[in-house]
Amino acid sequence: MDYSKEMIKENLLILHEKISLAEKKSGRKPESVKLQAVSKFHPFTSVLGAMECGQILFGENRIQEAVQKFIQVQTVSNRYELHIIGSLQRNKVKHAVKIATCIESVDRIELLAEIEKQCAEINKSIAVLFEFHTGEESKSGFGTIEALDGALRYCAEGNAPHVIPKGFMTMAPFTDDESAVRASFALMRNTADLMKKNYPQFDLSELSMGMSGDFEIAIEEGSTQVRIGTAIFGERDYSAK
Ligand SMILES: *Cc1c(COP(=O)(O)O)cnc(C)c1O
Repeated sequence: MDYSKEMIKENLLILHEKISLAEKKSGRKPESVKLQAVSKFHPFTSVLGAMECGQILFGENRIQEAVQKFIQVQTVSNRYELHIIGSLQRNKVKHAVKIATCIESVDRIELLAEIEKQCAEINKSIAVLFEFHTGEESKSGFGTIEALDGALRYCAEGNAPHVIPKGFMTMAPFTDDESAVRASFALMRNTADLMKKNYPQFDLSELSMGMSGDFEIAIEEGSTQVRIGTAIFGERDYSAK
């Protein structure tokens, strides 16, 4: 069942309150954490409902679905930002760079090269986050600090002038063990701090971490952007597509 606009509005209000509270609890500045609405598996009408409540930033993980949905959204409004948060195949990059303002799931140098190539073709610069593997189960992201450093070095050496490094993204393990989740986010933050030191020429201030089940811990551990789907739009119906 798709949520009504009223339910989406209520959920967004509750989330903004919880985010404020978590900011306060951890001594963070008010409004230092952005809320990204992850609309994957939810229809165009849910996106519009959120937009009508003032939501600007959206996340999608599958390119074809994102293109179809946001072409419809564009007929109503262009006032949105779309981030790609799912693992990205090379042959989808061409479409991804056309519709997205940021690709958060950069996990290999070949992907950077393809993003550069496709952006150069349409004369567009695009923000990227480097995904770092910090949790046990998830397979995505750069697996080692060396590999992550290699990707930043690739950019620093001028190989991808249309790519603007903005920071990092990670997913914590799906577990009730709060200390494991916290350790995952802390590893991301510490690794990001190291990269900021190694590459002062880039503004690597973005730390995209935290989902419906763990965003408060992520904020306590330094997240600047939480990616939330279920707590806004409801459960995803994977059988529908
Ligand atoms: C689906 C997804 C989310 C949102 O997950 P919820 O638990 O529904 O909030 C966040 N980040 C990524 C990378 C996702 O794929």
